[in-house]
Amino acid sequence: MPENVIVTSALPYANGPIHFGHVVGAYLPADIYVRFRRMRGDHVHFVCGTDEHGVAITLKAEQAGKDYQAYVDHWHKEIRRTLEELVGIRFDAFSGTSHARNPHHRELAQRFFLDLLHNGYLFEKTEEQFFSPSLGRFLPDRYVEGTCYLCGFDEARGDECPRCGKYLDARRLANPLCTIDGQPPVLKATKHWYLDLPKLKQEWVQGWFEGKAADWKANVKAFVANDLEELRERPETRDLPWGVPVPLPGTDGKVLYVWFDAPIGYLSISKQYFAERGEPERFERLWKDPSTRLIHFVGKDNITFHCLIFPAMLYGTKAGWIVPANVPANEFFQLEGRKFNTSTGWFIPEESVRGRFSTDALRYALCTMMPETADADWSWKEFQARVNADLNDNLGNFVARSLRFAERFLESELPPLGQPAPRDREILAAAGAAAADMAAAFLRFEFRRACQRLMAFSSECNRYYDEMQPWVLRKQDPARCRQVLRVCAELVHSLAILAAPILPDTAQKVLGAFLPAHDDAGRPSLPPGPLRVQPLPTLFTKVEDKVVEEELARLRAVAKGGTAAAPAAPPARKPDEKPATAGAPQAAAPAGAIAYESFAAVELRAGTVRAARRHPDADKLLVLEVGLGSETRTIVAGIAASYTPEALQGHRVVVVANLAPRKLRGIESQGMLLAADDAEGKPRLLTPGPGTPDGAKVK
Ligand SMILES: [Zn+2]
Repeated sequence: MPENVIVTSALPYANGPIHFGHVVGAYLPADIYVRFRRMRGDHVHFVCGTDEHGVAITLKAEQAGKDYQAYVDHWHKEIRRTLEELVGIRFDAFSGTSHARNPHHRELAQRFFLDLLHNGYLFEKTEEQFFSPSLGRFLPDRYVEGTCYLCGFDEARGDECPRCGKYLDARRLANPLCTIDGQPPVLKATKHWYLDLPKLKQEWVQGWFEGKAADWKANVKAFVANDLEELRERPETRDLPWGVPVPLPGTDGKVLYVWFDAPIGYLSISKQYFAERGEPERFERLWKDPSTRLIHFVGKDNITFHCLIFPAMLYGTKAGWIVPANVPANEFFQLEGRKFNTSTGWFIPEESVRGRFSTDALRYALCTMMPETADADWSWKEFQARVNADLNDNLGNFVARSLRFAERFLESELPPLGQPAPRDREILAAAGAAAADMAAAFLRFEFRRACQRLMAFSSECNRYYDEMQPWVLRKQDPARCRQVLRVCAELVHSLAILAAPILPDTAQKVLGAFLPAHDDAGRPSLPPGPLRVQPLPTLFTKVEDKVVEEELARLRAVAKGGTAAAPAAPPARKPDEKPATAGAPQAAAPAGAIAYESFAAVELRAGTVRAARRHPDADKLLVLEVGLGSETRTIVAGIAASYTPEALQGHRVVVVANLAPRKLRGIESQGMLLAADDAEGKPRLLTPGPGTPDGAKVK
């Protein structure tokens, strides 16, 4: 019986590029699973989109001086492109949670809130929260960073710790500092709505989880069991200017917490999808049918929300929504032993892989390295080994040698399968066994095992070919030779079908070798009659040592410098172009290296923009008042093309503090700001890290 399956991939935050660490956690395994389920005949609905609310976004948009919507629009497009083009993820529905992108989201999230309130699972409470007196605003979540009170990580955010993955109470952080101005925040009372998780746990969550857990992955079970112990009430609203408004009177300036509204995005994006197809009734039919299997693919950092909080919310609405059947979360994925970090350069830039390796090569290698049960690593040497040894020398080799032989010596014509010899029957049965093992692995979310099984079967195929020696049979027993090649064609076809969820493009190409073309990837075997095959262009290209060495050298440079040495560095400024900042005299860049002393003579300090206005006599200039701790400087900067004066309020900057003052269009500039051009050539200010007080020396 075909099943109805909803598969979701964690909604990526629309606040930065997506990297392989994300891809391998929640997107690639979901896509493989979806393709496998479809081949089985199940009805699958694959949903994703961008998470467009929350402090992760407001903070970065403010730092970039961008409007919130424009900011999330940019990343929405980028993320979708990366997932679709780089690794071939094919969603059914891909949208987002901002009102402009998805008109169904706000209404549905508010309905969840009101249902939970009505059912007594949300309660109101006035509590003290962090507030910045200098900025005059509350500092929810990532507006505060400090030391994690659970694991000691010193860049823990106000709402969660990136290292231990735990939800945090900001007030318990050690050394809390505002991420905008680096100052210690104060506490101020504010009213919020809390989800009564202890009540939900007692009433339903605990029993549900214990009943479910038998089928769940061990790493997920262990994580959740631990979290269940510590389940406390959590505030589900925030004082923020961007998000889903709290649907109650007198709550201006309050929005739903991003973790409350984001998972509802799975439903609202699905609702939008069916509405746009003119079948709005299918949305609730699917999401309220108890036989629908809901599977959430997420990374480790999303386990608690998808395994406890969101199911509790779905249950607590009492609206009949289904709850997840499984949450096959992965562990963390690192790059050559260190955490991916796009801001330091410790990641794999798209330029390093795009156009260089096929989508399938990346999918396969990532799949073999997947952090299914423990943290795992992208290693360039491992990538090379998997592509060269598995795809090229094993699978690719068997397909190529079989089809080429048939073309060269048998005019591409193969006889009916007829009565296979015992050894033929044995290898054909091996295909069936591989199919059964791989299906079981996919259903248990064991994608690495599925890859291993595929390659083990491909090795058996190569062994059969070597044993049969068709090049000898061709002369000694031409009829047997034809029969052997007919069996090989059968095996090539099986390999394509088995590989299809992991290697979709390759499978499509290989199936194209059989005439008439078989476009139905789900067909279990070839028709038994005579067969015509045609050779294929090379399926895989070997990864050369040179490529691996280049990539490792790039990472070594990043590790040494501690900062990005991007592979495709933007071209150096041409001599006739204006410098990024016009706050001080600029000399032409020196051609050679400088002595350390020359650099050390430049005094760089962290600061915060206290006020900003347009220069009365120059369109390109802004006049800023910049706080450096003990003093405030007036700085004239040529950044009006990139920032509005409003956006700069509270912006952290790096100031060249010992430049001789200089008048710019009548106003004296007492320093210069550091900036780097963005992709469009507009200057973007450099920002000191969180926790750096004003006046701190930059070195
Ligand atoms: Zn921690």
